[in-house]
Amino acid sequence: MNLKKQDPQIAKLIDLETERQKTSLEMIPSENHSSPAVREALGSVLVDKYTEGYPHKRYYNGCKYYDILEDLCIQRAKKLFGVEHANVQPYSGSPANAAVYMATCEPGDTIMGMALPMGGHLTHGWKVNFSAKFFNSVQYGVDEKTHLIDYDEIKNLARENNPKLIWVGATAYPRIFDWKKLGEIADFTGAYLAADISHIAGLVAGGAHPSPVPYVHIISTTTHKTLRGPRGGIIMVTKKGIEKDSELPKKIDRAIFPGLQGGPHQNAIAGIAVCLKEASNPAFKKYAMQVVKNAKVLAEELKKYGFTLISGGTDNHLLLIDLRNKNITGAAAADLLEEAGITINKNSIPYDSASPFKPSGIRMGTPAITSRGMKEKEMKKISNWINEIILNPKSAKKIREEVKKLCKKFPLP
Ligand SMILES: *Cc1c(COP(=O)(O)O)cnc(C)c1O
Repeated sequence: MNLKKQDPQIAKLIDLETERQKTSLEMIPSENHSSPAVREALGSVLVDKYTEGYPHKRYYNGCKYYDILEDLCIQRAKKLFGVEHANVQPYSGSPANAAVYMATCEPGDTIMGMALPMGGHLTHGWKVNFSAKFFNSVQYGVDEKTHLIDYDEIKNLARENNPKLIWVGATAYPRIFDWKKLGEIADFTGAYLAADISHIAGLVAGGAHPSPVPYVHIISTTTHKTLRGPRGGIIMVTKKGIEKDSELPKKIDRAIFPGLQGGPHQNAIAGIAVCLKEASNPAFKKYAMQVVKNAKVLAEELKKYGFTLISGGTDNHLLLIDLRNKNITGAAAADLLEEAGITINKNSIPYDSASPFKPSGIRMGTPAITSRGMKEKEMKKISNWINEIILNPKSAKKIREEVKKLCKKFPLP
């Protein structure tokens, strides 16, 4: 109400975006629909306060409630994931990863991560990112034929290059990570092993993807993807991490503050605490399982329509599709689908010869539509629409109306 009066331009844009979300299918795999409770925490007076430092060790006065809040958030994260230490202050996933570097490496040290065009993240050592500018980055990929992570390649690269830190985690990898194998590689070479579970945190929390906890030293994650919280990040240290380096929790905390950040965003920490509570409910387990079931149905149906799936299918929440046999670029397909109210993104595929601006693939996922309650039946409908639109671009307008109808039956959380 206040916003409408004081700043109608911004209020109008929020209304329009609300309408867009209500009436379209959000299928970008890194996105989700947060609960009203999460958003209430986020938009509260907690926005106003400076709380530099950590609970009970603050640089500002007036922090007594924030100490309780942040402690609660930390406890919930530790319990949900089964870790020894959690820092809930990272502003987002990239700052969380920057802190992991700062805690474990010196500038110039060798690090390893999956290359961006193979499905990795910018912060895992991609050339334009700080992580390749300040560190000696060695990149691994996926097998050209199977599109699966080649654990032997990682082992060989790690033996040759002796990295200080190895990242595992991806933005466009539709399969399960073999944490055990990775743990053995890191143990053999003496590297810190960091699992970046940004995309799959909700699946891990809900038991729909194996947890890296027994095998890795550090876990970083965003909180706004499958975990369904506000935009933010968490860094965790496992028991194995503390056994390797008992100073690791302290190093992580110091890297976040005062190393990289100033005052934490306590409104976000409150929102994260709320989402962690939600994620510990039995209903969230069901949600996580359904996300994967839905993705598998989507994959099978699209395969029947002749779509080429990278790695042949999916084990998680996302699909990466090679469109080269469909005579359309990823960008054109994404724009067409948007016309129909199906939001996905263009994406490079492994060994893509096309430019990153006009890549050969698209990426889509089920976290957000599953949050609306959609199930297998709806996945069949959606894959049918996707096929029709790619075959016949003119059908996008007609399908837009059908998408709206479906969305009406599945309101936003
Ligand atoms: C999303 C993501 C990040 C970065 O998160 P931001 O919040 O966008 O900075 C880091 N790593 C992986 C694997 C991600 O998927």
